[in-house]
Parts: sequence; structure tokens; C-alpha cells
Amino acid sequence: MVRLDSVTKRYGRGTAAVTALDDVSVTIPAGTFTAVMGPSGSGKSTFLHCAAGLDRPTSGRVSLGSRRTELSALSETELTLVRRQRIGFVFQDFNLLPSLTVRQNVTLPLRLAHRRTDKARLAHSLARVGLSDRAGHLPAQLSGGQQQRVAIARALITGPEVVFADEPTGALDTVRAQEILSLLRRTVDDTGQTTVMVTHDPVAASYADAVVFLADGRIAEITGTLPAGRIAERMAHLGTWA
Ligand code: ADP
Repeated sequence: MVRLDSVTKRYGRGTAAVTALDDVSVTIPAGTFTAVMGPSGSGKSTFLHCAAGLDRPTSGRVSLGSRRTELSALSETELTLVRRQRIGFVFQDFNLLPSLTVRQNVTLPLRLAHRRTDKARLAHSLARVGLSDRAGHLPAQLSGGQQQRVAIARALITGPEVVFADEPTGALDTVRAQEILSLLRRTVDDTGQTTVMVTHDPVAASYADAVVFLADGRIAEITGTLPAGRIAERMAHLGTWA
């Protein structure tokens, strides 16, 4: 699980200060797929950066996993290790290394962690994302949807405690986006992979078990699964509040 306790993040000082997250507390249970929604500027990226240990809150605590590791108590070196070994990342623009093959991209987190690549594990990972026949290809030889599936296999290869996905369908057309969302959903259902996805897309958020709505850096509401239409309605209200 991932837990935020009274997390506040301020950028800048004095009159130029911006409170991007304002006293946010939330517990994301293990084994669930959570969407973090909100209008532009509501604090979604800041939430993800703080929750994933990419940035430090100004105040408050973030803890991770069954060991309840408190990220704010870690040194930079320890935090880097936690990000490498216990967290998976999926980004909007895939972030694959262009000169590495699919196989090399997927196994990169294992190499960084000085772990050997188990052939069966790699084969299973590629099969799960439907890319068994593309292991030797370079990213440029793949479609955007396929590249994002490589990125998902890479995020999952270490068996992370949580996967953070930042607008994972933002660069894809509707059909490819739905493939990616179904893949994330299936992964949570089949393997209990705790997944947190930041998105402004109501359709994407409708795949989640829970939706955290942010407005002006605060949690406006937390709901269970909702159809995209109802999420869009709530977003319209948040837009007018924000
Ligand atoms: P979202 O992802 O929902 O669009 P962000 O988390 O990016 O929202 O931003 C929340 C608020 O914090 C915005 O007002 C934004 O301008 C501000 N902000 C984000 N990052 C920085 C930064 N590095 N420096 C100053 N202000 C920032």
C-alpha cells in the first residue's frame, strides 16, 4: 500500500509561493488500481512525484509497502534504491531507450539492480504484454501502443510493490489507449499489482477501483469505480471550483 499523511508541497517562497498539495492524506490499499484525477494545475503530478519518491514533500509523510518504509526518512541513495527496486514507472511518452531492443529495455531495471535475468520471467513478461515476437526489435520499429506495452513490461519486471503510471494513454489514440488500460486492469486483477494512475481522462479513470479527485491541491472526493460519464460530470464541477 501507499500512504500519504498530511502531505503538503509548496513551490517557491513568499508572495510567489504556490501550494501544489495542501494537507493531503490518503491510503491506497495493496492490490488495487487507483486513478488520481483532477483539472490541470490541481496537483496530480505533484501527488505522483511525492508518492513515488521522485520529489520530497514540504511537510507530511509518505510511506510505502507492507514494511511501511517512510520515504521522507531516507537518504537520496536509499530513495534511489527504493525507486529502482520497489516501484515501477510508466510515463506518457514511454521513455524507452532508443538504442536498446525490447528485451534490453524490459530487463534494464534488473541490470540496474544487479539482478540476473531469469529467461522464463522475461518470456512471461513479454507474453503478458503480447510482445513475445518483438523481443529483438528496437522501439522505433514499434507502434506507440506497443512501445507503451514494453514500458509496462519494464515497470513490472522487478515485481514492484507499486506501479505509478503518469497519463499512460496521453500519447495514444482511443483504441490503443483502451488496450493499455485493459492491460493495466488485467495485471491488477491477475497479479494483485498495486497500481496508481494519474490521468485527466474520465475514460481512463473508469478502469480503476477507486478515483481520487484533486482540486486546488486538496482531495475533493474519493469514489469507488464510476462510469466515465459520471467521472466527467464530477470533473466539470471540479473545474468550476478550481
Ligand atoms: P497537474 O498535474 O494537476 O496539472 P501540478 O502538480 O503540475 O498539477 O501543479 C500543481 C500546482 O503547482 C500548479 O499551480 C503548478 O503551477 C504548480 N507547480 C508545479 N510544479 C511547480 C514547480 N516546479 N515550481 C513552481 N510551481 C509548480
